[in-house]
Amino acid sequence: MKKDWKHSIMAAVRRILFPPVCPGCGRSIGKREIFCPVCQKQLHLLSPGDVCPKCGKETCTCNKLHPLFSQVYPAGFYEGSIQSAIRNLKFLHHPGHAKPLGTLLAKTLERYHVAPANFDLLAAVPMSRKRQKSRGYNQAALLAETVSVETGIPFCPDALVKIRETKAQHDLSGSQRRTNLKGSFAAGSAVSGKRVLLIDDVFTTGSTANEAAEVLLQSGAARVDVLVLATTRFETMQL
Ligand SMILES: [Zn+2]
Ligand SMILES: [Zn+2]
Repeated sequence: MKKDWKHSIMAAVRRILFPPVCPGCGRSIGKREIFCPVCQKQLHLLSPGDVCPKCGKETCTCNKLHPLFSQVYPAGFYEGSIQSAIRNLKFLHHPGHAKPLGTLLAKTLERYHVAPANFDLLAAVPMSRKRQKSRGYNQAALLAETVSVETGIPFCPDALVKIRETKAQHDLSGSQRRTNLKGSFAAGSAVSGKRVLLIDDVFTTGSTANEAAEVLLQSGAARVDVLVLATTRFETMQL
């Protein structure tokens, strides 16, 4: 009880010092809102059936990607408010935006009618130590922390780690992406026998999620599903 009091006082102090802002544009929002009304208008959330459940794409790429994960749950396409919010979170140094966006991810599971009880732990796509040091945080891990609070699925920060520096994925073609990532992740023993929900911000070709899923499954994970804020709409990359 005492702890609950302390927790709510701390939360109230945090709200006064750092009032919640819209992750899309930075306007003030109510504590239960995710986006401001303006960004909300440019928010198009996906529903089950809008993308292939297996590869997360509008036009199925399963025969090229050969997904090792079981399903992908994207909140939306990489456009509009979600795109602005992801850019703000990653490149404009707004780690606080991970909280409303993590709430959006938790709600995304509900939209896909997936119960949190289907998963034993959350893993976040890791960043290299060097990149994390320069950004100051790993946005996927921050998102996973909020998803954990909202769903009760434990987040295991060491489930997946990056063991080798790699080039930034966005400059590379599909096959280069796969080669670039090969052997760059390692999974901890905590994943053995577990149903893992992997968290990331954007799902582009799926090669990052696939490499992560491969390592998790090799370490004994029972299955791997992927929860992301956005999936890119048009596949411009050569897979
Ligand atoms: Zn806004
Ligand atoms: Zn597919």
